[in-house]
Amino acid sequence: MLPIKLIYHDRYDLHLGAHIFPSQKYRLIHDALLGEKLAEPGDFLQPEPAPDDDVLLVHSREWVRKLKNGTLTFAEIMRLEVPYSPEMVEAFWLAAGGSILAAQRALTDGLAVNLGGGFHHAFPDHGEGFCAINDIAVAIRRLQRDAAIQNAMVVDTDVHQGNGTAAIFENDDRVFTISIHQEHNYPAWKPPSKIDIHLRDGTGDEDYLARLEKHLMQAFHDFAPDLLFYVGGADPYREDQLGGLALTMEGLKRRDVLVYEHARRHGVPVAIALAGGYARRVEDTVRIHINTILAAAQSAGISAVSKRAP
Ligand SMILES: [Zn+2]
Repeated sequence: MLPIKLIYHDRYDLHLGAHIFPSQKYRLIHDALLGEKLAEPGDFLQPEPAPDDDVLLVHSREWVRKLKNGTLTFAEIMRLEVPYSPEMVEAFWLAAGGSILAAQRALTDGLAVNLGGGFHHAFPDHGEGFCAINDIAVAIRRLQRDAAIQNAMVVDTDVHQGNGTAAIFENDDRVFTISIHQEHNYPAWKPPSKIDIHLRDGTGDEDYLARLEKHLMQAFHDFAPDLLFYVGGADPYREDQLGGLALTMEGLKRRDVLVYEHARRHGVPVAIALAGGYARRVEDTVRIHINTILAAAQSAGISAVSKRAP
Protein backbone atom coordinates (compact mmCIF):
# COMPACT_ATOMS: atom_id res chain seq x y z
CA MET A 1 0.00 0.00 0.00
CA LEU A 2 1.16 3.53 -0.73
CA PRO A 3 1.30 6.01 2.18
CA ILE A 4 -0.97 8.42 0.25
CA LYS A 5 -4.30 8.19 -1.59
CA LEU A 6 -4.64 8.54 -5.36
CA ILE A 7 -7.91 10.06 -6.53
CA TYR A 8 -9.21 8.73 -9.84
CA HIS A 9 -12.41 8.21 -11.80
CA ASP A 10 -12.86 6.29 -15.08
CA ARG A 11 -14.88 9.20 -16.41
CA TYR A 12 -12.02 11.73 -16.09
CA ASP A 13 -11.51 11.05 -19.81
CA LEU A 14 -13.01 13.93 -21.81
CA HIS A 15 -13.40 11.63 -24.86
CA LEU A 16 -11.97 14.14 -27.30
CA GLY A 17 -10.98 11.69 -30.04
CA ALA A 18 -8.02 12.88 -32.11
CA HIS A 19 -7.19 16.04 -30.11
CA ILE A 20 -3.87 17.51 -29.02
CA PHE A 21 -5.06 17.03 -25.41
CA PRO A 22 -4.62 13.28 -24.72
CA SER A 23 -7.34 13.01 -22.09
CA GLN A 24 -7.04 9.22 -22.24
CA LYS A 25 -3.84 9.78 -20.26
CA TYR A 26 -5.70 9.58 -16.95
CA ARG A 27 -6.72 5.99 -17.65
CA LEU A 28 -3.23 5.18 -18.98
CA ILE A 29 -1.64 6.51 -15.75
CA HIS A 30 -4.10 4.55 -13.60
CA ASP A 31 -3.57 1.35 -15.60
CA ALA A 32 0.23 1.67 -15.63
CA LEU A 33 0.35 2.22 -11.85
CA LEU A 34 -1.59 -1.00 -11.33
CA GLY A 35 0.03 -2.93 -14.20
CA GLU A 36 3.56 -2.17 -13.01
CA LYS A 37 2.52 -2.93 -9.42
CA LEU A 38 3.45 0.59 -8.34
CA ALA A 39 0.02 0.89 -6.67
CA GLU A 40 -2.79 -1.40 -5.54
CA PRO A 41 -6.54 -1.00 -6.10
CA GLY A 42 -6.85 -0.01 -2.42
CA ASP A 43 -4.63 3.01 -2.99
CA PHE A 44 -7.31 4.64 -5.14
CA LEU A 45 -10.31 6.68 -4.06
CA GLN A 46 -13.14 7.53 -6.45
CA PRO A 47 -14.41 11.10 -6.24
CA GLU A 48 -17.98 12.33 -6.49
CA PRO A 49 -18.67 15.21 -8.89
CA ALA A 50 -18.14 18.52 -7.08
CA PRO A 51 -21.42 19.84 -5.65
CA ASP A 52 -22.70 22.82 -7.66
CA ASP A 53 -22.60 24.90 -4.47
CA ASP A 54 -18.83 24.36 -4.34
CA VAL A 55 -18.36 25.16 -8.03
CA LEU A 56 -20.35 28.37 -7.45
CA LEU A 57 -17.82 29.47 -4.82
CA VAL A 58 -15.59 30.25 -7.82
CA HIS A 59 -17.71 30.32 -10.98
CA SER A 60 -20.59 32.50 -12.07
CA ARG A 61 -24.11 31.11 -12.05
CA GLU A 62 -24.34 31.93 -15.75
CA TRP A 63 -21.23 29.93 -16.71
CA VAL A 64 -22.36 26.91 -14.67
CA ARG A 65 -25.81 27.05 -16.22
CA LYS A 66 -24.43 27.23 -19.77
CA LEU A 67 -22.17 24.24 -19.20
CA LYS A 68 -24.94 22.18 -17.63
CA ASN A 69 -27.57 23.06 -20.25
CA GLY A 70 -25.24 22.86 -23.22
CA THR A 71 -25.97 26.45 -24.21
CA LEU A 72 -22.41 27.68 -24.77
CA THR A 73 -22.05 30.01 -27.73
CA PHE A 74 -19.83 29.10 -30.66
CA ALA A 75 -17.31 31.72 -29.48
CA GLU A 76 -17.26 30.21 -25.98
CA ILE A 77 -16.59 26.73 -27.37
CA MET A 78 -13.81 28.09 -29.60
CA ARG A 79 -12.21 29.74 -26.59
CA LEU A 80 -12.51 26.56 -24.51
CA GLU A 81 -10.87 24.62 -27.39
CA VAL A 82 -12.65 21.36 -26.61
CA PRO A 83 -15.83 20.16 -28.30
CA TYR A 84 -18.96 20.29 -26.16
CA SER A 85 -20.44 17.06 -24.80
CA PRO A 86 -22.27 16.11 -21.60
CA GLU A 87 -19.35 13.69 -20.90
CA MET A 88 -16.91 16.60 -21.09
CA VAL A 89 -18.96 18.58 -18.57
CA GLU A 90 -19.22 15.60 -16.22
CA ALA A 91 -15.45 15.08 -16.44
CA PHE A 92 -14.82 18.67 -15.28
CA TRP A 93 -17.21 18.25 -12.33
CA LEU A 94 -15.49 14.98 -11.41
CA ALA A 95 -12.04 16.57 -11.68
CA ALA A 96 -13.16 19.34 -9.31
CA GLY A 97 -14.60 16.73 -6.93
CA GLY A 98 -11.24 14.92 -7.19
CA SER A 99 -9.28 18.03 -6.27
CA ILE A 100 -11.57 18.70 -3.29
CA LEU A 101 -11.02 15.12 -2.11
CA ALA A 102 -7.24 15.38 -2.69
CA ALA A 103 -7.12 18.59 -0.63
CA GLN A 104 -9.14 16.99 2.19
CA ARG A 105 -6.93 13.87 2.20
CA ALA A 106 -3.79 16.03 2.11
CA LEU A 107 -4.89 17.55 5.42
CA THR A 108 -5.22 14.12 7.03
CA ASP A 109 -2.41 12.20 5.24
CA GLY A 110 0.14 14.93 4.49
CA LEU A 111 -0.12 14.55 0.71
CA ALA A 112 -2.69 13.30 -1.81
CA VAL A 113 -2.82 13.21 -5.60
CA ASN A 114 -5.70 13.86 -7.94
CA LEU A 115 -4.90 11.90 -11.13
CA GLY A 116 -6.79 14.59 -13.03
CA GLY A 117 -7.46 18.29 -12.62
CA GLY A 118 -5.08 21.21 -12.77
CA PHE A 119 -7.46 23.14 -15.06
CA HIS A 120 -5.82 26.47 -14.31
CA HIS A 121 -7.01 28.37 -17.41
CA ALA A 122 -10.66 28.39 -16.26
CA PHE A 123 -11.96 31.83 -15.17
CA PRO A 124 -15.09 32.47 -13.08
CA ASP A 125 -17.22 33.33 -16.12
CA HIS A 126 -15.57 31.48 -19.00
CA GLY A 127 -13.31 28.59 -19.91
CA GLU A 128 -10.28 28.53 -22.15
CA GLY A 129 -7.28 26.40 -23.09
CA PHE A 130 -9.04 23.04 -22.44
CA CYS A 131 -10.19 24.20 -18.96
CA ALA A 132 -13.88 24.75 -18.10
CA ILE A 133 -13.90 24.52 -14.29
CA ASN A 134 -10.98 25.64 -12.12
CA ASP A 135 -10.71 22.62 -9.82
CA ILE A 136 -7.76 24.17 -7.94
CA ALA A 137 -9.73 27.25 -6.91
CA VAL A 138 -12.88 25.23 -6.19
CA ALA A 139 -10.95 22.94 -3.81
CA ILE A 140 -9.33 25.86 -1.98
CA ARG A 141 -12.60 27.78 -1.65
CA ARG A 142 -14.42 24.66 -0.41
CA LEU A 143 -11.83 23.99 2.30
CA GLN A 144 -11.90 27.64 3.32
CA ARG A 145 -15.70 27.54 3.55
CA ASP A 146 -15.45 24.45 5.75
CA ALA A 147 -12.89 26.32 7.89
CA ALA A 148 -10.53 23.38 7.26
CA ILE A 149 -7.91 25.90 6.07
CA GLN A 150 -7.53 29.65 6.05
CA ASN A 151 -4.56 30.23 3.76
CA ALA A 152 -3.31 28.33 0.73
CA MET A 153 -0.38 28.50 -1.65
CA VAL A 154 -0.66 27.41 -5.27
CA VAL A 155 2.58 26.33 -6.96
CA ASP A 156 1.83 26.00 -10.66
CA THR A 157 4.61 24.43 -12.75
CA ASP A 158 2.65 23.87 -15.95
CA VAL A 159 4.55 25.39 -18.90
CA HIS A 160 1.60 27.76 -19.47
CA GLN A 161 0.94 30.54 -16.97
CA GLY A 162 -1.94 29.79 -14.58
CA ASN A 163 -3.99 32.76 -15.75
CA GLY A 164 -7.39 31.65 -14.41
CA THR A 165 -6.03 30.85 -10.96
CA ALA A 166 -4.03 34.10 -10.87
CA ALA A 167 -7.10 36.16 -11.77
CA ILE A 168 -9.36 34.38 -9.26
CA PHE A 169 -6.98 35.03 -6.36
CA GLU A 170 -5.48 38.32 -7.57
CA ASN A 171 -6.98 40.42 -4.77
CA ASP A 172 -7.09 37.70 -2.13
CA ASP A 173 -4.39 37.90 0.55
CA ARG A 174 -5.28 34.44 1.82
CA VAL A 175 -4.12 32.66 -1.35
CA PHE A 176 -0.53 33.01 -2.55
CA THR A 177 -0.13 32.01 -6.20
CA ILE A 178 3.19 31.14 -7.82
CA SER A 179 3.44 30.31 -11.52
CA ILE A 180 6.67 29.21 -13.27
CA HIS A 181 6.14 29.12 -17.01
CA GLN A 182 7.46 29.93 -20.47
CA GLU A 183 7.03 33.66 -21.04
CA HIS A 184 6.46 33.53 -24.80
CA ASN A 185 3.62 31.05 -24.83
CA TYR A 186 -0.11 30.93 -24.24
CA PRO A 187 -1.80 32.76 -22.55
CA ALA A 188 -0.94 36.05 -24.27
CA TRP A 189 -2.54 38.04 -21.42
CA LYS A 190 -1.11 36.92 -18.09
CA PRO A 191 -2.96 38.34 -15.07
CA PRO A 192 -0.41 38.69 -12.27
CA SER A 193 0.19 35.83 -9.87
CA LYS A 194 1.70 36.81 -6.50
CA ILE A 195 4.95 35.49 -8.01
CA ASP A 196 5.36 34.96 -11.76
CA ILE A 197 8.57 33.35 -12.95
CA HIS A 198 8.71 34.12 -16.67
CA LEU A 199 11.19 31.80 -18.36
CA ARG A 200 12.97 32.23 -21.69
CA ASP A 201 12.40 29.76 -24.51
CA GLY A 202 14.60 26.70 -24.17
CA THR A 203 15.26 27.04 -20.41
CA GLY A 204 16.81 23.80 -19.14
CA ASP A 205 16.93 21.87 -15.86
CA GLU A 206 19.57 23.79 -13.90
CA ASP A 207 18.27 27.28 -14.63
CA TYR A 208 14.71 26.21 -14.02
CA LEU A 209 15.41 24.49 -10.71
CA ALA A 210 17.57 27.34 -9.41
CA ARG A 211 14.88 29.92 -10.13
CA LEU A 212 12.10 27.77 -8.70
CA GLU A 213 14.07 27.13 -5.51
CA LYS A 214 14.90 30.81 -5.01
CA HIS A 215 11.25 31.81 -5.32
CA LEU A 216 9.97 28.96 -3.16
CA MET A 217 12.30 30.11 -0.40
CA GLN A 218 11.01 33.64 -0.78
CA ALA A 219 7.38 32.50 -0.84
CA PHE A 220 7.71 30.41 2.33
CA HIS A 221 9.53 33.29 3.99
CA ASP A 222 6.66 35.68 3.19
CA PHE A 223 3.68 33.38 3.62
CA ALA A 224 2.62 30.51 5.89
CA PRO A 225 -0.01 28.42 4.09
CA ASP A 226 -2.23 25.78 5.69
CA LEU A 227 -2.18 23.88 2.38
CA LEU A 228 -0.01 23.86 -0.73
CA PHE A 229 -1.80 23.04 -3.97
CA TYR A 230 0.73 21.76 -6.47
CA VAL A 231 -0.11 21.91 -10.17
CA GLY A 232 2.40 19.46 -11.63
CA GLY A 233 2.31 20.03 -15.39
CA ALA A 234 4.17 17.56 -17.61
CA ASP A 235 4.53 20.13 -20.39
CA PRO A 236 7.82 21.86 -19.44
CA TYR A 237 9.32 18.64 -20.91
CA ARG A 238 11.65 19.21 -23.86
CA GLU A 239 9.61 16.92 -26.14
CA ASP A 240 6.33 18.72 -25.49
CA GLN A 241 4.39 19.88 -28.55
CA LEU A 242 2.77 22.89 -26.82
CA GLY A 243 5.76 23.86 -24.69
CA GLY A 244 9.08 25.51 -25.51
CA LEU A 245 11.15 24.73 -22.41
CA ALA A 246 13.84 22.05 -22.36
CA LEU A 247 13.45 20.12 -19.11
CA THR A 248 14.46 16.47 -19.05
CA MET A 249 12.43 13.78 -17.34
CA GLU A 250 15.05 13.76 -14.59
CA GLY A 251 14.78 17.54 -14.21
CA LEU A 252 11.00 17.28 -13.88
CA LYS A 253 11.44 14.68 -11.12
CA ARG A 254 13.81 17.00 -9.28
CA ARG A 255 11.25 19.81 -9.68
CA ASP A 256 8.56 17.71 -7.96
CA VAL A 257 10.89 16.70 -5.14
CA LEU A 258 11.95 20.32 -4.64
CA VAL A 259 8.35 21.46 -4.13
CA TYR A 260 7.48 18.56 -1.80
CA GLU A 261 10.69 19.07 0.17
CA HIS A 262 9.99 22.75 0.81
CA ALA A 263 6.45 21.94 1.93
CA ARG A 264 7.67 19.11 4.17
CA ARG A 265 10.28 21.33 5.83
CA HIS A 266 7.55 23.84 6.67
CA GLY A 267 5.06 21.17 7.76
CA VAL A 268 2.60 22.09 5.00
CA PRO A 269 0.30 19.41 3.50
CA VAL A 270 0.32 19.09 -0.29
CA ALA A 271 -2.58 18.41 -2.64
CA ILE A 272 -1.45 17.57 -6.16
CA ALA A 273 -3.17 17.82 -9.55
CA LEU A 274 -1.50 16.74 -12.79
CA ALA A 275 -2.33 19.47 -15.39
CA GLY A 276 -0.97 19.67 -18.96
CA GLY A 277 1.22 17.29 -20.96
CA TYR A 278 1.42 17.04 -24.75
CA ALA A 279 4.61 15.11 -25.40
CA ARG A 280 5.11 13.71 -28.90
CA ARG A 281 4.90 10.26 -27.30
CA VAL A 282 1.94 10.00 -24.90
CA GLU A 283 3.97 7.38 -22.97
CA ASP A 284 6.37 10.19 -21.97
CA THR A 285 3.52 12.33 -20.60
CA VAL A 286 2.22 9.31 -18.68
CA ARG A 287 5.70 8.57 -17.26
CA ILE A 288 6.25 12.18 -16.13
CA HIS A 289 2.90 12.18 -14.30
CA ILE A 290 3.67 8.80 -12.71
CA ASN A 291 7.00 10.20 -11.49
CA THR A 292 5.12 13.14 -9.87
CA ILE A 293 2.84 10.66 -8.10
CA LEU A 294 5.67 8.38 -6.92
CA ALA A 295 7.72 11.32 -5.65
CA ALA A 296 4.70 12.37 -3.56
CA ALA A 297 4.42 8.86 -2.10
CA GLN A 298 8.13 8.90 -1.34
CA SER A 299 7.87 12.30 0.34
CA ALA A 300 5.04 10.98 2.54
CA GLY A 301 7.27 8.01 3.41
CA ILE A 302 10.11 10.33 4.45
CA SER A 303 7.73 12.33 6.66
CA ALA A 304 6.49 9.14 8.34
CA VAL A 305 10.06 7.99 9.07
CA SER A 306 11.14 11.37 10.43
CA LYS A 307 8.04 11.48 12.69
CA ARG A 308 8.96 8.09 14.15
CA ALA A 309 12.57 9.16 14.83
CA PRO A 310 13.25 10.22 18.42
ZN1 LIG B 1 -0.03 23.64 -20.00
